[in-house]
Amino acid sequence: MRVLVVEDDAMLGDGVRRGLRQLGHAVDWVRDGAEADLALAGEPYDVVLLDLGLPGKGGLDVLRDLRRRGRGVPVVIITAQDAVSQRVAGLDAGADDYLVKPFDLDELAARVRAVQRRSSGRAEPLVEHGPLTLNPASHEVFLAGAPVALSAREFALLQALLEHPGRPISRARLEERLYGWEEQVASNAVEVHVHALRRKLGAEWIKTLRGVGYMVPRRM
Ligand code: CA
Repeated sequence: MRVLVVEDDAMLGDGVRRGLRQLGHAVDWVRDGAEADLALAGEPYDVVLLDLGLPGKGGLDVLRDLRRRGRGVPVVIITAQDAVSQRVAGLDAGADDYLVKPFDLDELAARVRAVQRRSSGRAEPLVEHGPLTLNPASHEVFLAGAPVALSAREFALLQALLEHPGRPISRARLEERLYGWEEQVASNAVEVHVHALRRKLGAEWIKTLRGVGYMVPRRM
């Protein structure tokens, strides 16, 4: 999924970005509130990790403005150990969860998955569609009970398409989901991943709608 990290601490921001990228997420990292506003206005993020103590415009104001604009993107706030009142203010301003520094990358990854799951209306951790089962926590995919080995990007693409079976997603939108700003994207990157998924799952799993995009059929 596409994650925005808003954190002015260079070591923490870099560590979080690396950790989430290793798990196959597309991560953008900004270091102050004004940059966060710009990023949020321009990109469709699945989850935002938001430090509250930022230079200039604070994280709490970024969050309040985001919710005022009616944006429901899940937000996990990152706060210092002793900042109980900040955590309360953050949750009251519309945050979905919080993490206390210093935190473990595994816990961060689990919370990102949990808030994304809730925001997509799913309570159960597995994504199931016909004979296909996808486990976002372990990155495992099973087709009729048999494991299917996917790359991190193939997995992310399949997960995006499975969020709304029967509804096409444009290539541009899929590129945004799969790649962060600093990553070089070959013009045919999405097609290459779609081709690989069809080879591994069967061509019927991903339909091309000319000029519109790709979709997984509603019934499989
Ligand atoms: Ca900070």
